[in-house]
Amino acid sequence: MKQFLLAIDQGTTSSRAIVYSRDGSRAGLAQQEYTQHFPHDGWVEHEPEDIWQTTLSSCREALQKAGISAEQLASIGITNQRETTVIWDRRTGEAIHRAIVWQDRRTASWCQKMQKRLENEGRPELINSRTGLVLDSYFSASKICWLLDNIPGARAAANAGHLAFGTVDSYLLWKLTGGKRHATDASNASRTLLFNIHTQQWDAELLELFAIPAKLLPEVLDSAAYFGDTEADILGVPVRIGGIAGDQQAAAFGQACFEAGMTKSTYGTGCFMLMNTGDTVVKSTHNLLTTVAWRLNGKTTYALEGSIFMAGATMQWLRDKMHFFGDSAASEAMTTFSQHGESVMFVPAFTGLGAPWWDSGARGAIYGLTRDTGIEDIVTAALLSVCYQTRDLLDAMALDGFSPTRIRVDGGMAANNFVMQRLADLLACPVDRPQITETTALGVACLAGLECGLYASTDEISQLWLLDRSFTPSQPEQWRQQQYRRWQDAVHRTLS
Ligand code: ADP
Repeated sequence: MKQFLLAIDQGTTSSRAIVYSRDGSRAGLAQQEYTQHFPHDGWVEHEPEDIWQTTLSSCREALQKAGISAEQLASIGITNQRETTVIWDRRTGEAIHRAIVWQDRRTASWCQKMQKRLENEGRPELINSRTGLVLDSYFSASKICWLLDNIPGARAAANAGHLAFGTVDSYLLWKLTGGKRHATDASNASRTLLFNIHTQQWDAELLELFAIPAKLLPEVLDSAAYFGDTEADILGVPVRIGGIAGDQQAAAFGQACFEAGMTKSTYGTGCFMLMNTGDTVVKSTHNLLTTVAWRLNGKTTYALEGSIFMAGATMQWLRDKMHFFGDSAASEAMTTFSQHGESVMFVPAFTGLGAPWWDSGARGAIYGLTRDTGIEDIVTAALLSVCYQTRDLLDAMALDGFSPTRIRVDGGMAANNFVMQRLADLLACPVDRPQITETTALGVACLAGLECGLYASTDEISQLWLLDRSFTPSQPEQWRQQQYRRWQDAVHRTLS
């Protein structure tokens, strides 16, 4: 019986593959880091071949560790770092350049100029109204333009239909199917700045605006769809590929956030909060993004998204640059020795501030230091900054008319009980941590499992979600207000 699912989780610093049993338990995992290229200040690139080779060997190793053969796989799901842009030649399968990573800022001034142009033309809202996003170098469109304009011969080859664009899911699908399929899913398409989230089509007016030929783009399928089969020699036998979703959307699926209002917050390097808004496209007036959560049987579920750049990354800074501890997990115990942590405010604007401030010029600051302040107070303040920033996101969602009544958490930092308790205290809502906090890979495995019939419905997937611990608010309203006022004051002093 084909009872196993293989999830490919292609992330920004490593490629992972996880074999799951039908009950959602992990049967085998393999992970490989790969090289980051920083050719200039603000540029971040990946070698597409590295992405492919680390993915391929992780898949083979995960099967080996699970002790199963590919014949026992019912389906494969692919989840990926979003927005990262690859263009390859359909004739040879060779990428025309390294992948331009989502973090890459090379097209920032180009985007600003384009936005000015749209304002001068009296249509500043064009992009947001079609895509739910803002014109920023973070998304794929300006990266595609850069490649077409800077790689000799690229534009002519694109116009002739010889080139293919893909986010990483699409590139991996092409590789896995031996060049037979050029497709993506609606959640990944919704991060390109070219996809009309209302009509669920590539937007002809936006393609014209960016001068991107439609021939370059992949076909957009549901998130649970038959994407093709792997070439036989890749895993030994052909295996169905039945699920694709961007990493944050996959995490929301893995958290079984299937009802409108259900919200997940992932605490990894950064933090991404997604709230399911059902079939309603909520236009944020408070600097959140509107995105496709997933599309199933042609029906689109939308989400509001807020992102924080520094969550676990702040812990990495305290560990690697300040040498305050050797392991991020030690931060939790340090909070018990902190007497002044709550009066210190740590604003981790190392690379600017994300939602809802969107201030790329801001830089980090620590306020409220006294002669008594010790390492444990700074660590505590840094951990609390993650909670305050989440409150910023939650308040922005509430102002947009959607107030979550509880949130589900995942990611490495969700293991920190101090942070989770304070999160509940500051949000004044319960915080639920599932037993499985690796929800990204699980989510895309579930999409693939749904497509091949291993799961009959999302109800069945909801049953895989098991609570580890619920954190309920324990502080009085006065404390909450005082702490949050201190935070807002500190942020206002930090904004550029
Ligand atoms: P990513 O998927 O973005 O690489 P993970 O979900 O694996 O991240 O989470 C790792 C991050 O979480 C690291 O930045 C690490 O510093 C932080 N982290 C892990 N465990 C803890 C902990 N117990 N307390 C605080 N931070 C933690």
